[in-house]
Amino acid sequence: MHIFGKKQVFTCAVCGKELGRHKYKPGEEWGIQGVLCGSCHVEKTKEFIIRQAETPDRCAICKEIVQDGEKPKWQWEMESGTLLCNPCFQKKDADYNKKINFCSLCGGKLGMFYYHPKPTWHIQGNLCRKCWDGQKGKE
Ligand SMILES: [Zn+2]
Ligand SMILES: [Zn+2]
Ligand SMILES: [Zn+2]
Repeated sequence: MHIFGKKQVFTCAVCGKELGRHKYKPGEEWGIQGVLCGSCHVEKTKEFIIRQAETPDRCAICKEIVQDGEKPKWQWEMESGTLLCNPCFQKKDADYNKKINFCSLCGGKLGMFYYHPKPTWHIQGNLCRKCWDGQKGKE
C-alpha cells in the first residue's frame, strides 16, 4: 500500500482493473465499497434498476412498499407470492374472522353450525341456517 506515496492507485471494486483519472462512485444502496470503472458502473446501474423492478415488495392491498411483508394466510385465497404490510394483514385477518364467524346476509353470529352458500348464489362467506333456507326458497 502506497497511500502516502506520490500516486494512489485505485482499482475497480468489481473487476479489479486499475483506474486512471476516471473513477465512479457506486450508489449507496448497491452495497459496494470503493470505486468502480466506467463499464462496471454502467453494468451495476442497470443491474440495480432491474433488481428494483423485479422485486417491488409492495403490499397487495394498499400498494405501499413493505420491508418485510407478511404472507397472506392460504384461507384468504389470495395469489401466491403476494405480500401484505402489517396493518393490512391485521385488517384482513380481522375481516376474515368476521366473515367466517358471522352470517353474510343477516350478520348474525354463527355457532358451531353454518352453511356454505351455493356457488350460484354468488354469496361470499357463510350463512346461518335461516338465511340459507331463505336463499334456497328463492331458487
Ligand atoms: Zn470494473
Ligand atoms: Zn398494506
Ligand atoms: Zn343469516
